[in-house]
Amino acid sequence: MRIAFLGLGNMGGPMAANLIRAGHTVSGYDLGAAQLQALAHAGGTAATSIASAVKDADVVITMLPAGQHVREAVTGPDGVLAHVSPGALLIDCSTIDVATARAVAVAVEARGCQFVDAPVSGGVGGASAGTLTFMVGGADGAVGKAHPILERMGKTIVHCGGPGTGQAAKICNNMILGISMIAVSEAFNLADGLGLDRQKLFDVASKSSGQCWSLTSYCPVPGPVPTSPANRDYAPGFTAAMMLKDLNLAQAAATGAETATPLGAQAAAIYEAFVAAGGSATDFSGIIRHLGARK
Ligand code: NAD
Repeated sequence: MRIAFLGLGNMGGPMAANLIRAGHTVSGYDLGAAQLQALAHAGGTAATSIASAVKDADVVITMLPAGQHVREAVTGPDGVLAHVSPGALLIDCSTIDVATARAVAVAVEARGCQFVDAPVSGGVGGASAGTLTFMVGGADGAVGKAHPILERMGKTIVHCGGPGTGQAAKICNNMILGISMIAVSEAFNLADGLGLDRQKLFDVASKSSGQCWSLTSYCPVPGPVPTSPANRDYAPGFTAAMMLKDLNLAQAAATGAETATPLGAQAAAIYEAFVAAGGSATDFSGIIRHLGARK
């Protein structure tokens, strides 16, 4: 397949490299010279514009920061739809708002192309190892066509429903993650205050009803889970700024869907305060330090 890959950052770079390793021809575009160089080094073609990246592409993948970047890159005057061949499949792997995903899907289909939203979970480690989870929204035909490509970058692919449902699944999942990381952090801080050894709390809660991913795979205190960012002074990983972005997307979606999410709102406010206090580039599990002040 001839694949155009737009957005070759922390996630897009290794994802594109996996497609090249699988034998696809990849032409990539990014605003950054270093990202383009890395693509060329991995065996891809560094394009000088979106137009030249997508002109012969069967499939266009976007992995961009946020909704406005995806809208501009796809529907803007010099964007994908102005240059791609009709019939091409567009796969957006960025985490963006549901409304933008649905609006882009409509614009893509009006141009005679296909669209799926396919945001990911698994972080930079999963992107490099090709073990991402894809949450996919779109029509059956488009999702079927995307499947063999997504398989080269991930190991779990869930078709969630029509356009936008991949993004819906992603923000619901990350709302759980943000809330649960705060819950686990508060519990460790309380354990400290009560003189309970952290490892003992881990030993109990990891085998009890407090068990969750934030505890057993990404523990916010050093020691119990050697691979968690707590063991390297909270170097990311997944930054607090990204968590705040996803929690804000969840809040915007909850408002639009008239759904009460009081803990989601509280988690967004707590991460906003952490980011405002300078935590933006810290791993999101560093929230434990922000919460840690003893009363
Ligand atoms: P990043 O900032 O490292 O990469 C984004 C890239 O897009 C940058 O290299 C930037 O130069 C490029 N870019 C911006 N505008 C562009 C344009 N108009 N044309 C071409 N390139 C453009 O971000 P990332 O960590 O790779 O994240 C990308 C997306 O994946 C985000 O939506 C993020 O929420 C999501 N995500 C990230 C992680 C993670 O752990 N990093 C995990 C899951 C999902």
